[in-house]
Amino acid sequence: MSKTCQSCSMPMEKDPGAGGTNLDGSKSDDYCSYCFEEGEFTEPDFTAKDMQKFCTEKMNDMGIPGLFSWMLTRKIPKLKRWSSPPSSTEI
Ligand SMILES: [Zn+2]
Repeated sequence: MSKTCQSCSMPMEKDPGAGGTNLDGSKSDDYCSYCFEEGEFTEPDFTAKDMQKFCTEKMNDMGIPGLFSWMLTRKIPKLKRWSSPPSSTEI
């Protein structure tokens, strides 16, 4: 099981749902309950950039400083969900 969600980079231990669910009802090894439900992404149209923006806004709402949220979200494009197909990489 991944330590962090491979979609949003949230630590799995922080997931109140203890992981997303696969189509057969089992727990996803890679994605949290916010991102993945019953075998599908909850935001299938998201790009890595959309996810970064979404997470940054969420963290701002929670009072997390911008620098910290930037550090946490900058690795999102490297996660499994966004890593294929290999396209132009922005770092
Ligand atoms: Zn997630």
